[in-house]
Amino acid sequence: MSQCTHCNTETGDRNLSLDRRVEVMSFETETPVLHVLASDAGMAFCGEPCFSKHIPLLIEQLELKRTFPEFDVVAECCRCGRLLDRRQAYVAFALLDATHQAKPWLKSLEVHSDEDFAILCPRCESPDFDLAESVEENLQPSEVPAVVAESV
Ligand SMILES: [Zn+2]
Ligand SMILES: [Zn+2]
Repeated sequence: MSQCTHCNTETGDRNLSLDRRVEVMSFETETPVLHVLASDAGMAFCGEPCFSKHIPLLIEQLELKRTFPEFDVVAECCRCGRLLDRRQAYVAFALLDATHQAKPWLKSLEVHSDEDFAILCPRCESPDFDLAESVEENLQPSEVPAVVAESV
């Protein structure tokens, strides 16, 4: 069972998480499609009230001027207000409301809502992601540090 990173309550199966993602959108079809190129599991919140309570803190930590940007081709960077083209990779902090279901035969995630809490232009935060690399390559487990025996 995981815990809320803010109030230490057990989060239960359904919780909110704020993930740092690298996103890019395509507007070729009628409904815009959001592609997540990379995602880091961020903070977990036990629920909406707990998240709302911490919004001022998040705004301070992420140095934001605004939150929940418009879902359009061009949107304002939430930190500096410069226009950002969502067709180019950008950093986003996404708020995910999901239920984690862990059954012996299956681990699934039911997503109730997924919205951008904040998006940042490349000048504020570099997407730091090589588009030539696939997401799979990016998800390689980090190297396990060798255990060094201490000589006394
Ligand atoms: Zn909480
Ligand atoms: Zn910016």
